[in-house]
Amino acid sequence: MLLLRLAAATALLQTVVVAIQPSAQNPLDGQEFRDLEWGDLNFLHTTDQHGWHAGHLEESQYSADLGDYISFISHMRRRAKEKGVDLLVIDTGDRVEGNGLYDASEPKGLYTRRILEPFDVDIITTGNHELYNGTTALHEHTQTIPFFGDRYLSSNIDIDMGNGWEPMANRSLRFQTENLGLDIMAFGFLFNFTGNFKNTRVKPVATVLEEEWFQKAIREPVDLFLVAAHIDVHTLELQQIHDAIRQQNPETPIQIFGGHSHIRDFVEFDSKSTALESGRYCETAGFLSLDGLVPKDEKDTSFVKPKDGAPMKTFRRYLDFNRAGFQHHSNTTEDSFDTDAGLKVSKDIALYRQSLDLNRLIGCAPREYTLSRDPYPSAGNWYSYLGEVLLPKMVVNKTRAEVPRMIFINGGSQRFDIFKRFTYDTTFIVSPFTSRFMYAADIPWEVATRLLGYFNDDASPYSVEMQAKGEHWASASSNQPLPESMMLPVNQIPLARGRQKWRKTIGYTTEDAFGKQGDDVVHQAFQKFDTPKVLQANASFPVGWEAKPPQTVDVVFFDFIAANVADGMNRIVGEKKWKKEDFGYYMSREDTLTKLMLEFVQEEWGKEC
Ligand SMILES: [Zn+2]
Ligand SMILES: [Zn+2]
Repeated sequence: MLLLRLAAATALLQTVVVAIQPSAQNPLDGQEFRDLEWGDLNFLHTTDQHGWHAGHLEESQYSADLGDYISFISHMRRRAKEKGVDLLVIDTGDRVEGNGLYDASEPKGLYTRRILEPFDVDIITTGNHELYNGTTALHEHTQTIPFFGDRYLSSNIDIDMGNGWEPMANRSLRFQTENLGLDIMAFGFLFNFTGNFKNTRVKPVATVLEEEWFQKAIREPVDLFLVAAHIDVHTLELQQIHDAIRQQNPETPIQIFGGHSHIRDFVEFDSKSTALESGRYCETAGFLSLDGLVPKDEKDTSFVKPKDGAPMKTFRRYLDFNRAGFQHHSNTTEDSFDTDAGLKVSKDIALYRQSLDLNRLIGCAPREYTLSRDPYPSAGNWYSYLGEVLLPKMVVNKTRAEVPRMIFINGGSQRFDIFKRFTYDTTFIVSPFTSRFMYAADIPWEVATRLLGYFNDDASPYSVEMQAKGEHWASASSNQPLPESMMLPVNQIPLARGRQKWRKTIGYTTEDAFGKQGDDVVHQAFQKFDTPKVLQANASFPVGWEAKPPQTVDVVFFDFIAANVADGMNRIVGEKKWKKEDFGYYMSREDTLTKLMLEFVQEEWGKEC
């Protein structure tokens, strides 16, 4: 099937770009691109891939897979060589968790680790998601890190393999670029993360900056410091890293790549130091170039040093992850784009997806439901649907089915929009956490009705959880992508023959420190709305309850916040009345939200898409 598809792809006319994964949609042609400006030193950057290596099968704008990206990298390396400049490829972590390709295998990540091996990066580092689970961290250390060797950097993470703490990976790397021979010192940092499993430890960034090896490294005479960081570009940790290096090196460029908050972003620390963050989920490849590193008149000599005090030009661009864009920017065509290495990865991904049964249709949604593109509450909002339909129906204890109940879940438990086709893969994408339901029985109405307010306040356990998870899983980041149905039709002035006939899609319209021209495709902006931090669903309420509310209700919640629920209720009544040991499981331990969702879709949604 895939082979046929691949053969068909090469037979097509050059103007048509065909998505490589069997069930993916072709990117729209005729989009208006903003081009790349190459410099002396150029970068491609990805972050927070979270297992989306097959690309977005429901969204044509992000339909490239890792194989396509690998082909793209190889063309970009060739172009750099032709221009006599350098290209470095960076990935800043959170490659795991959040997509069936990673989560559905046993053990998790079995295929992802293989898929990543041909990923031709120069510097790669760790995200928090590589560390939540002890086995994930172990596999990262014993399989992924040895594969990438020196190029894998963890400047502030240690692991205990049973013989005491040792560095998770290489702390730093000094290397020379291939074409210009630029001398580079690179580091790999994770933010001050505390939610890791006990077989790893994350040292606070500020502590590591004081360590002898780091102080020595920043005193080496190099042309550029490179920081690959799984850190939001607006946070203190990055500022600290920048300041520590800058203090020793007033003139040397410091180039930082960030991650973790899942958005496109870019900040300027000083005239020779910026940080780029390149989105999430294989939707974005960041491109950044530095020009003026090398005195132009000396380019042909073997002496290559940055010109002290010379103006250095920084350029950044966010590329939508699809083959049309990759071909445009690498000056290739549908015929010349694919490389053997890229095609092999695409083929492997399709086979792995098949063996994991990820394309299996579970049900068809009555409509699309979004986390933040429709206001909450409204008919197209997924939280509204959960609160009004799914949770009341599915979260039931048979022996207490008639008892009125309030069900609380955190908004962050939901991670992606629902498109019409709900496949086995969708479960991992939308609701990947293992959340079980517990309950507090017969809680007075006056207490229960004040819980939502308590959760929404700062002391909320949900906010603690969200912070630990850190990512903007479901929050209304300024940069949410859009499904196919939201794509705008062909230019709305069909008769304007003389004009450029660009086809516009709704998509990222990023605004950052350099302005509004960063996205590689000129998109129509989209609207976004706030998402609820905590969602309350009511079930089995008696008719006319508004006039005569029940005296007591069951309060149902995720098991991981049991202690906080007790705490909240105690605060509301002003005495220590509850403790978490008082609460039992409301349903069987197998009945996670993810499983209940799967059953609901299977039973309620039908299969006619
Ligand atoms: Zn992430
Ligand atoms: Zn992260």
